[in-house]
Amino acid sequence: STQIQLVNRPSGWPTHDDFRTVVTELPPLAPGEVRVANEFISVDPYMRGRMRDARSYVAPYALGETMAGGAIGRVVASAAPELPEGTVVLHQLGWRDVAQGPAAQFRPELDAPGVPHSLRLGLLGMTGLTAYVGLTAIAGMREGDTVFISGAAGAVGTAAGQFARLLGAGRVIGSAGTDEKVALLTSKYGYDAAFNYRDAPVREQLAAAAPGGIDVFYDNVGGDHLEAALDAFNDGGRAALCGAIVSYNAGSRTAGPDNMGNLITRGLRLEGFTIGNHLQHAPEFRERAGEWFAAGSLAYDETIVDGIDHAVDAFLDMMRGANIGKMLVRI
Ligand code: NDP
Repeated sequence: STQIQLVNRPSGWPTHDDFRTVVTELPPLAPGEVRVANEFISVDPYMRGRMRDARSYVAPYALGETMAGGAIGRVVASAAPELPEGTVVLHQLGWRDVAQGPAAQFRPELDAPGVPHSLRLGLLGMTGLTAYVGLTAIAGMREGDTVFISGAAGAVGTAAGQFARLLGAGRVIGSAGTDEKVALLTSKYGYDAAFNYRDAPVREQLAAAAPGGIDVFYDNVGGDHLEAALDAFNDGGRAALCGAIVSYNAGSRTAGPDNMGNLITRGLRLEGFTIGNHLQHAPEFRERAGEWFAAGSLAYDETIVDGIDHAVDAFLDMMRGANIGKMLVRI
């Protein structure tokens, strides 16, 4: 089995020197264990947080251990009757081509015709659930709301834009970092307006895209996006703070918004959340997203990098914005 391990805690942008590749021979299966050939592994922004030795909602990665994270694959050898050979399973054993361990570490997934396995790591998995919960349970989006989504062309963002539309948003506005992404937002993902945050200050571009103000902000980015949203909010506006990627690779502290007073004068509510604390919404999400998907109402993009040896590149490229939709490593 080939595995990628963290060996240094990066400050600022991670480099290849912070990781090592280890090739091990797997022992024979013990009773109750399975061996899984991974098909896709997920690279996610939160992984950058776990490379730090700091208090957060998930424990830091231990140095010299294989990078944990979402993956999906197929059981290729089994000593556990509940997971026979051929079962498609999701797990958290991360950056390795073959995973092996007690059956309890693996969750069988529906092998539904017409649903690519990779979507269980993205639109129809945690990513989609995050987008759905942020809009509904956290931001309390209502029909007719004007919704602004930052990081709109990424995995969570493309899901959130479509869900907002399907849930009856009045106007959906998105921002992203390339003109290609911006064009896709309006042509493919149902956004009414979109802009490239690199073109001009977000404050100016958001004001132009939302002349009637915004009611809901789904924030994946933080920084200048949050500040701009605070200015654009209508009275009673609500934000779901999902991520703040501007700061993840910053070597020093980043500045906060200069207009927090708007929370008071406009009666705004900002609520941060991590999806692990809201899993009670998963059954509702599965049902709704399943119906939308089956009806052909959901589009998606994936940016796929081949080979476990390119997992670090895939992670860094995602953090730099090389992905449209979900970034995945195909094994
Ligand atoms: P994405 O697919 O959105 O990939 C990250 C994207 O961030 C890049 O494609 C890039 O797009 C954008 N980006 C990078 N740097 C900057 C920057 N300085 N300013 C603006 N945009 C930037 O990743 P995910 O969909 O997996 O995650 C999106 C966000 O959601 C992250 O902040 C993540 O931490 C958060 N998240 C939170 C969860 C929770 O439970 N709260 C769960 C899952 C994700 P571009 O080209 O547009 O710059």
